[in-house]
Amino acid sequence: MTYEQPQLPYEHDALEPAISKETVDYHYGKHEKAYIDNLNRLIKGTEYEDEELEDIITHSSGALFNNASQAWNHIFYFFTFSPDGRREPTGQLRKAIDRDFGSFEKFKEAFVEAGVGLFGSGWVWLSRDEKGKLLITQGPNAGNPLTDGLTPLLTFDVWEHAYYLDYKNRRADALARLWDIVDWEIVEGRF
Ligand code: MN
Repeated sequence: MTYEQPQLPYEHDALEPAISKETVDYHYGKHEKAYIDNLNRLIKGTEYEDEELEDIITHSSGALFNNASQAWNHIFYFFTFSPDGRREPTGQLRKAIDRDFGSFEKFKEAFVEAGVGLFGSGWVWLSRDEKGKLLITQGPNAGNPLTDGLTPLLTFDVWEHAYYLDYKNRRADALARLWDIVDWEIVEGRF
């Protein structure tokens, strides 16, 4: 199968000022497109050609893992945002966040702190384990919690390409602004 890059459900300037149109143009339009193009090139004519992307991520290593996981991670990331979504978690997810992190405010602080504390490139994740407990983890480079048997709920990209055009080296500021565009209705749907 050939993977296609899904069209974003919002205009490229819809996330401003948290993420500029220029960053979406490059980050989704060029970086993410390259991962998908590489994925398609690497699976062509191999046993991976007919696997689901999630299965390729858990079954592969090296360049194939890196491109498959980056292809998945960016879709997951960009499809978490909306210009006019629910800005706080509700229901069962809210209860789980309060239970496992103390409060929504404490969760947000811990999540950004984990993103800032990740050395180099990678991703910070909120995931659920099989018992329903919530965890914040750091995934270097193309890291993805699917490889640890977790269910990913939310991720922030901490590669410099995600924020350098808008925030230069200020990663903490870049991550904190993402709370303005996370749509918690989408995150709750993954819980
Ligand atoms: Mn990225």
